[in-house]
Amino acid sequence: MQQILNYVDGRWVEARSQTWLDVFEPATGRVYACAPDSGPEDIDVAVVAARRAFPLWSNTPAAERSQILLRIADLIDVHRERLARAESIDTGKPITLARGLDIPRAASNFRFFATAILHAASESHAMGNTALNYTLRQPRGVAGLISPWNLPLYLFTWKIAPALATGNTAVGKPSELTPMTAHLLAELCHEAGLPAGVLNIVHGYGARVGAALTAHRDVSTISFTGGTQTGRVIAAAAAPLFKKLSLELGGKNANVVFADAPFAEAVTTSVRSSFANQGQICLCGSRILVEETLHDAFVTQLANRTRAIHIGDPLSEDAEHGALVSEAQLQKVSAYVELARGEGGQIVCGGRAPAAHALPERVRRGYYYEPTVITGLAAASRLNQEEIFGPVVTVIPFRSEAEAIEIANGTPYGLSASLWTSDLARAHRVAGALAAGTIWINTWMLRDLRVPFGGMKQSGVGREGGVDSLHFFTEAKNVCVQFAPP
Ligand code: NAD
Repeated sequence: MQQILNYVDGRWVEARSQTWLDVFEPATGRVYACAPDSGPEDIDVAVVAARRAFPLWSNTPAAERSQILLRIADLIDVHRERLARAESIDTGKPITLARGLDIPRAASNFRFFATAILHAASESHAMGNTALNYTLRQPRGVAGLISPWNLPLYLFTWKIAPALATGNTAVGKPSELTPMTAHLLAELCHEAGLPAGVLNIVHGYGARVGAALTAHRDVSTISFTGGTQTGRVIAAAAAPLFKKLSLELGGKNANVVFADAPFAEAVTTSVRSSFANQGQICLCGSRILVEETLHDAFVTQLANRTRAIHIGDPLSEDAEHGALVSEAQLQKVSAYVELARGEGGQIVCGGRAPAAHALPERVRRGYYYEPTVITGLAAASRLNQEEIFGPVVTVIPFRSEAEAIEIANGTPYGLSASLWTSDLARAHRVAGALAAGTIWINTWMLRDLRVPFGGMKQSGVGREGGVDSLHFFTEAKNVCVQFAPP
């Protein structure tokens, strides 16, 4: 049994209560580690450490901060295989995905912000020969960083790197379902020479330890990625304390395929955008809208390709589809598919857990669900309105561009959308009309760390990435110097 510990003030410590929570390997359904079941008292200690570290870290020259963060990136590269294996065991995702996407992206996050701060400039506003305003962008203090389970190290470091690069100190709270790579990251930060207290990591349940972090009066900045309902709770707690808040929340993303789409590419990428990471990526296109004339051919191809996805042990090199993160998530997905049946949906493929004998022996008790394609549901049905966050995609036909836009925009969410067409004018027009923070045209998940990332409507508040992250984690202060009377 592996033991995960909190990382506070440069030391590894248990929760003060000395209680633990079980950490499961989703592919086997077995408990394989334990993590501290921390409480508000552990957050208090971590915040004190982060406050104490702030004056020194915020006054450390950017070039020195950069060097330390680059060392962390290098160490992530050195330990890529170990981290990928840990991420795969902790989440149920195929190790090939962890090795190819999650872990390299964690290193890129550090490298990106470590170098961004060396080139960041701030504004000045001259008032003729009278005065000059210049903008100081100063770190805000202690940041609270709360992340989900689907891309654990990828998303945790997407917050840690800009927070620390800009001179803040931080208390991070990874998901209680997937704490392992955060624990390993603490070791790497330590080895890289990050001073004690600059990054503190406290494990535990969201409602206890996450809530304590959100409500702490000495934590001025909260960056949260997770579900919309949790975001609502955090926003309500943070508002009376006037905290600066970034909320990256859920989605019900449309993947719109016009009849003139590059067909083969649209099908291939749609399989990926529906089922990558077992459909547990906030950016997955969980509703595929297909122009009526193409609908049947598209569904046939999509289903054929979906049936061919290899479900296996996440640790084996040939597994394309692993386990869902938890038993609760498996039950949620099964319940939604039952609901689809009740709503008159047609299950074209999947719609069940794979038979035990179809799985390798080691993972027969894991939280598996087959990739599932459903047709025949109204755009307003619950399946097409609510975030499932699993390997379930629906296909909805549309007749016109206007109808496609109406259906795509017809949910409470607005995180991302994909468009497939060979008509550039239409692509541009529809991209402008869609209410989502990220639009991909003839692609999916192509990410550039400089671009603004975030959601509209109930998918979030604020933007992260590039200059938006640098601005989020700093306070803009205007300094006005008068040289001559006005
Ligand atoms: P979640 O909201 O249940 O948990 C996210 C984190 O918040 C966890 O660390 C959890 O412990 C913590 N938390 C829970 N309750 C809390 C509270 N009251 N106060 C403070 N913290 C609390 O989400 P999840 O199930 O871990 O992740 C899945 C969700 O995340 C999906 O809705 C998905 O769309 C969303 N997501 C969004 C993005 C994005 O960039 N927009 C990226 C990934 C995942």
